Amino acid sequence: MAKINMKTPLVEIDGDEMTRVLWVVIKEKLLLPFVDLKTEYHDLGLVNRDNTNDEVTVKSAHAIKEYGVGVKCATITSNAARQKEYNLKNLYPSPNATIRAILDGTVFRKPISVNRIKPSVNTWKKPIVIARHAYGDVYKASEMEIDAPGKVELVYTKTDGTEKRILVADFKGRGIVQGMHNLDDSIRSFARACFIYAIAEKLPIWFATKDTISKIYDGRFKTIFSDVYETEFKEKCSKAGIEYFYTLIDDAVARVVKSEGGFLWACKNYDGDVQSDMTASAAGSLAMMTSVLVSPSGVFEYEAAHGTVQQHYYRWQKGEKTSTNPAALIFAWSGSLAKRAELDNTPDLADFAKRLEKTVLDVIEDGIMTGDLAKLSDPRPEKVLNSWEFLDTVAGRLSR
Ligand code: NAP
Ligand code: MG
Repeated sequence: MAKINMKTPLVEIDGDEMTRVLWVVIKEKLLLPFVDLKTEYHDLGLVNRDNTNDEVTVKSAHAIKEYGVGVKCATITSNAARQKEYNLKNLYPSPNATIRAILDGTVFRKPISVNRIKPSVNTWKKPIVIARHAYGDVYKASEMEIDAPGKVELVYTKTDGTEKRILVADFKGRGIVQGMHNLDDSIRSFARACFIYAIAEKLPIWFATKDTISKIYDGRFKTIFSDVYETEFKEKCSKAGIEYFYTLIDDAVARVVKSEGGFLWACKNYDGDVQSDMTASAAGSLAMMTSVLVSPSGVFEYEAAHGTVQQHYYRWQKGEKTSTNPAALIFAWSGSLAKRAELDNTPDLADFAKRLEKTVLDVIEDGIMTGDLAKLSDPRPEKVLNSWEFLDTVAGRLSR
């Protein structure tokens, strides 16, 4: 069988532990037999990050900028325990944070839906994708305890020395206070990334804030989002057949649980933090959640939402064939190949990516699955497969 050609390489970012083990098997069984796979490989395994003083992480992010599409395995974020375990010279920030800072991206999380795994919200027919703004607000706030009566003011000192101040509260007793901020540029980048993603995926886009109460702060989010829509994306949205819908956050939450799903929900930082956990657990399982980083310049990085599945790795090291679910990792590959195909105009590769995803879904629908899904599946499957058996089944069907 002739292999499918690729025009431009994908940036391949390898990672750690169980996901690194499965990464090789996925390539060997599901990709290399079918695709003349071209990648520029970056090893972000913890040992190599330490050996290169984390330069490999920075290089991989710049490679994504250059080529446009990357696919990333899960990576360990180092901490004291990992330093000891891997005998590391230094501790570095999370690779995802480093890459996100270079690409100026927004993270989109989308569940992989299968009929056998019913969402807890029974009206949901299609996935809800969450886009989380990842800068500022309460995550970069300064806070203080107030231990006795006194005034708290916000003081803004311009570089020319002029001042603006407003009263926050006149405390009569003990209390607490917090100051937070955001940046127009960051909000604009976030809005652009949301529209680029929504148009690419042909999903209506919802955005919500509490601008009735927070007229200046949340009001600014609403205004910038609306400006970006009106000036840059209105026509493109209309061509893609999708609508932009703004509402109050309370109204959004109420509508989400009564909806059929099938839209992009753009969330401010805190809303996205909380609501992505809600939609992920209501939709099924962490092992069935994909994640893509989209930069406002239109550069994409695909990964699974889960981590390196550390405990499974320790059992694999002892010789166990673990039942780790490779679905989200496979979808990271198929997502990146489909995007590559779109940018390079290579329909054969696009077809293959679609077929790969459909095969994984068909196999699960037929009751062939790993342990994490077996627990949630209705009806229950007859047999629980280990990762290798699962991947062999997918590979067998793909070659047919
Ligand atoms: P995790 O790797 O996502 O695993 C947490 C638990 O979720 C697992 O113990 C397992 O539960 C279940 N699980 C996750 N993925 C699964 C899969 N594919 N198949 C079956 N079960 C799955 O999170 P963690 O244990 O908190 O973190 C481990 C390492 O991953 C850490 O070093 C962290 O820094 C890193 N991490 C990386 C990323 C990333 O690169 N994007 C994201 C998160 C965490 P059971 O044990 O019950 O089977
Ligand atoms: Mg959270």
